[in-house]
Amino acid sequence: MNRDVLVVGAGVFGAATAWALAERGAHVLAVDAHGPTHRYGSSHGEGRIFRRAYWEGPSYLPLLDRAYELWTELEETDGEPLLVRTGGVFVGSSDSGVVDRSRRTALLGGIEHAVWDAERLAERFPWFGVDPDMEALYEPGACTVLATRARLAMLDAAVRRRAGVRFGDEVVAVRSAAQGLDVRLRSGETVSCGSVVLATGPWAGQPLDAGAMDPAVLGAEFGAVLRPVRVPVYWFRADPRLGTAGFPAFLHESADGRVVYGLAEQSATRGVDGPLVKIGFHNHQQRPGDPRDTAPHDVPPAFRREMSEAVARVFTGIDPEPVSWRNCYYTLTPDGGFVIDRAARDPRIVHVAACSGHGFKFATAAGECAAALALGETPGIDLEPYGAQRFGGSRTGSDLHPA
Ligand SMILES: Cc1cc2nc3c(=O)[nH]c(=O)nc-3n(C[C@H](O)[C@H](O)[C@H](O)COP(=O)(O)OP(=O)(O)OC[C@H]3O[C@@H](n4cnc5c(N)ncnc54)[C@H](O)[C@@H]3O)c2cc1C
Repeated sequence: MNRDVLVVGAGVFGAATAWALAERGAHVLAVDAHGPTHRYGSSHGEGRIFRRAYWEGPSYLPLLDRAYELWTELEETDGEPLLVRTGGVFVGSSDSGVVDRSRRTALLGGIEHAVWDAERLAERFPWFGVDPDMEALYEPGACTVLATRARLAMLDAAVRRRAGVRFGDEVVAVRSAAQGLDVRLRSGETVSCGSVVLATGPWAGQPLDAGAMDPAVLGAEFGAVLRPVRVPVYWFRADPRLGTAGFPAFLHESADGRVVYGLAEQSATRGVDGPLVKIGFHNHQQRPGDPRDTAPHDVPPAFRREMSEAVARVFTGIDPEPVSWRNCYYTLTPDGGFVIDRAARDPRIVHVAACSGHGFKFATAAGECAAALALGETPGIDLEPYGAQRFGGSRTGSDLHPA
């Protein structure tokens, strides 16, 4: 046996799983088809929001709490800041999902928060200029995870514990062998291992060659329910008099239910001088995409105009003309949740994927759970909400995801 566990994919979920496995002393190899900071999947870029007053529901709290502990542990291990303590504001009408459900989770989870009116929001964060009937839930503990740095820090930590990480090679087949599993790479090498973790993000619905094994265990079981979508993200200039020091992570839900999110970038990585804020729609402007298509795709001018109009409605301290934009992938499940589970027909194969556009913050804990599953242990968190069984067998992606 070459390795205890082979992790397919070194996006944030694969990196976190490899780190967790290496910490437990497992002999692990992570393989990624692309380079360390490629932009074809979901984990690239500078920052991701971490928040606990979770409008998506309190069932995420156990995973969120553990994730935060592990992010701070990673930060200590790495010795460099990986979290920027910005606080977060979640804005909408008082009965909007973003305000009302964030408040409910905050109350249930004992999460420090305050509810402000629009005037208080503008006093405290002068970039905002929202409608007077809007409210904001403020979560002082929300923060930004420095995404690429944190993911590379996980891989560094894994390698320090003797993990192997290989970029530019692709897993093309996973087959049952006399002992364990044989994993074939595009380069021709075969690695034998005890278990495999599939952390393939938007590629999770792609079947791998499974030989005599039921291909349903290797991703095809999700092919019908996962929906990889290309989503644009934009950068805007903040008013230079305000800068972005102290700018909070934010969500804003408008009356039509569209949710806009954003966070300040810490450096001018877009080749533009001055303070920048990254903004995108969370549940709008999603187009079906195939992650195997690596050709550059521009963002349609109509999308850019629509985003500008949304920015002009929410902010007085941000120039509504975007200075830059780029596509990224969300991998949507029917219920907007994740998959952290053993494969249906072969418990030696573990899925940790399909993060529906809000998974980065959870990666440390999800990786820890996936590592436990791969080692045949019982994870410390109840994974029932993340089980693949919840999708049943007969549904198709297209009828579950109206545009
Ligand atoms: C614009 C945008 C903003 C977001 N904002 C937030 C946020 O603020 N907060 C938050 O919590 N989440 C956020 N998310 C979601 C979060 O970024 C994703 O959930 C997370 O990055 C998913 O990571 P992943 O490891 O599953 O996928 P990926 O990062 O795509 O990694 C999958 C990897 O698998 C590799 N791979 C695939 N198939 C193979 C194979 N056969 N062999 C070898 N390698 C393979 C790929 O090369 C890739 O590197 C955002 C996402 C986007 C796109």
